[in-house]
Amino acid sequence: MIVQHTFRRRIFINFFVVFSLFTLVVLAYQHDREKSYRTGQLENTLDNISEITHRYIEYKKIFESGDFKSLDSLKTLLPIAETRLTVIDMSGKVVYDSFVADVNTMENHLQRPEVQKALYSEKGSSIRLSATTNQKFYYYAKNYKNYFVRTADVYNVDIVKFLNTGRIFFVFIVFLFLLMWSMLHYTTRRLSDFITNLKDFALKAGQNEDISRMNSNFQDNELGVIRRQIIQIYDKLKTTKDELASDREKLYGHLQVLKEGISIFSPEKRKILANSHFIQFINMISEKSTISAEHIFAIPEFGKVVEFIDQNKGKEIQNQNKELPQIEYTIEKGEKYFHVRCIIFLDKSFEVLISDVTRPEKQRLLKQQLTSNIAHELKTPLSSIKGYLETILNSENIPAIKQKYFLQKAFVQSERLTDLLNDISLLNNIEDAGGLFEFKPLMMRPVINDVFENLKSRLTDKIMSFSIDVDNDVVVNGNESLLFSVFQNLVENSINYSGNNTTISIRKYLEDDKYYYFQYSDTGAGISEEHLPRIFERFYRVDYGRSRENGGTGLGLSIVKNAVLLHKGEISVRNKPEGGLEFLFSLSKK
Ligand code: ADP
Repeated sequence: MIVQHTFRRRIFINFFVVFSLFTLVVLAYQHDREKSYRTGQLENTLDNISEITHRYIEYKKIFESGDFKSLDSLKTLLPIAETRLTVIDMSGKVVYDSFVADVNTMENHLQRPEVQKALYSEKGSSIRLSATTNQKFYYYAKNYKNYFVRTADVYNVDIVKFLNTGRIFFVFIVFLFLLMWSMLHYTTRRLSDFITNLKDFALKAGQNEDISRMNSNFQDNELGVIRRQIIQIYDKLKTTKDELASDREKLYGHLQVLKEGISIFSPEKRKILANSHFIQFINMISEKSTISAEHIFAIPEFGKVVEFIDQNKGKEIQNQNKELPQIEYTIEKGEKYFHVRCIIFLDKSFEVLISDVTRPEKQRLLKQQLTSNIAHELKTPLSSIKGYLETILNSENIPAIKQKYFLQKAFVQSERLTDLLNDISLLNNIEDAGGLFEFKPLMMRPVINDVFENLKSRLTDKIMSFSIDVDNDVVVNGNESLLFSVFQNLVENSINYSGNNTTISIRKYLEDDKYYYFQYSDTGAGISEEHLPRIFERFYRVDYGRSRENGGTGLGLSIVKNAVLLHKGEISVRNKPEGGLEFLFSLSKK
């Protein structure tokens, strides 16, 4: 294993180098100490020889007699055989040398380093190669006022000799070194085994393998603790990961069924997630087939979002109690309305929500229009009533017959007001509380009969006839009062707008599994084509004056249409080619 080797080798080399250096330093120190001890010893011996020689010279008065040769007898007394003994006078001339027979051939010794040193500080030493013997010598000179005695001996305190002399110490050091080496070997091997084990263990954990049951020989040491910790952390991580994954799954599922389009982006405007509605909505808004949520930033309609994100880029979003920064606005695209909301989170990621508010928005506009229409419609009869009453109150001596006339007029207007309010409330009930109407199997024929019975006198007044082709077996799933309203309004309209001598016809012209199909028509003048598309709108009239004259509220056909829709049917209108207005509508079967 490469990891194991490099790791182990590194530790091993480091320890080895440190310990080797330590051993070398100890050896060098010991060698140095030995050397100075031996040098001291040698110098001591040479000093003793110098003293003996000096005493001998003094005692025998050799300088006075000039018999330097007699110093040869000293040679036998000297402790070391190869010791060289030289006597030099103060001018540097060699007067005696135990190694040289004819001292006159020798050069002046005043410049010799040991002599120079002795000249100034009583004694001096120097180590150098002897030109005569070609051996390293320790020269020691001592100044005795009238002459120098110089002694010399072979200087041999080198490492070999030291190793010989300090053998036990050396063996001890080598033994220590070998011991240390093998201990190092063993320790690093164990350590690297542990670490390899730990590494394998960590690798397995990284590869999501089940590590809790992994058979590792971690003992109860620090590595065992690390292993247990890794297992704990791994377990926690796994649980958290599983929880997160399931939460994410839930979130995704939830996002997909949302009616809103939602996308979450990173602070760098990269998509984190988006549901299919989001893509669908941005496609509708951009009118291009974009496939990625990130395209939103290039769509002009979302310029406000981009601006908002860029504005908040540098700002700190910190206060958790405060609301997160957000903007919302509505995009109008053709017939459609989209509500856009952008929220920036604490970590600067943000979400964009798009919802299709076409229906609610249109309804809002309709309601707005409706309210103003209702106000307008109510104002007319009310101001008439007010006018009549004011006339009566303000004019004195008004004849009783005239008073009654005005009161009657006011009464008619109040009736109109009641009709209007009834129609408005009926329409509201159909639209907002359709579920409250009771539906049951209902024979159509009796309902139609009731309507004609109800309007009999008015039909007679206008010399109108009618034909009904609806059998008693035509049973719809319906609400009686609503269906009564449907036919009542249609017939009333025919009475009001089709003119005299006309005929109304009602027939069931078709049926299938689910529906009955009815035709309602009259033989009047019909409605000019440009008005046809709008006659089901609330308060829409072709001729306002005429409608008012007839007590119309402008809501009749609206009620008809909404009642048919509540019965799960459909309704359409057209002018018959032969003249007259025709409605075709369906009602669901029982
Ligand atoms: P209104 O209360 O004015 O009758 P409706 O919604 O019932 O309101 O009718 C809308 C308009 O359609 C009427 O004002 C009238 O001009 C026209 N209209 C309805 N039915 C007929 C018909 N049978 N023949 C001709 N015009 C009609």
